Amino acid sequence: MGRRIYHLNIIKYWYSYDIEELCDLLSVHSQTIRDWIRNGLPINKGSGVTLVYGNDLKNFLGNLNKSQKRPTNFDQMLCMSCKDAKNPFRKQICLKHENKLLKAKAICRDCKKPMYRNYKLDHLPKLREIFHVVDVLELYDSKDPSLKTHFLNQDKEGKNESDNSSIQGEL
Ligand SMILES: [Zn+2]
Repeated sequence: MGRRIYHLNIIKYWYSYDIEELCDLLSVHSQTIRDWIRNGLPINKGSGVTLVYGNDLKNFLGNLNKSQKRPTNFDQMLCMSCKDAKNPFRKQICLKHENKLLKAKAICRDCKKPMYRNYKLDHLPKLREIFHVVDVLELYDSKDPSLKTHFLNQDKEGKNESDNSSIQGEL
């Protein structure tokens, strides 16, 4: 079974959830929640309804996340779509220098969705060693080379911009 990291910021710490609400909120089966309760998730049985305090849930899932988290390798990023650490497609990453960080963007090798990771500035030489550092256009067009030439042509036309009618004609 694959690991899963739960997003804690969707849980209201002051709210009492019943089982059905929890299933909706976290997109899990009620059996999963019953397993959590057996494994120590605190409950309150008010008027015959099993309620879980948001705060208790946050603590419980926070620990669960920690136990499921494998360290992400230096050459991997966390893909929110696969919910796992993944390697960039074709080892291509795009870097942006922002707030003393290198914001890296890449395409997930498995699902082809964008994924992100911050690196320290000091990591730049190492990043250049293990990745192909490309610009953002190359990154997204790596799937479809024809798309890239299309964008580049459009760019050139945009710069000349003397003849708008030809662009409209294409649309
Ligand atoms: Zn993915």
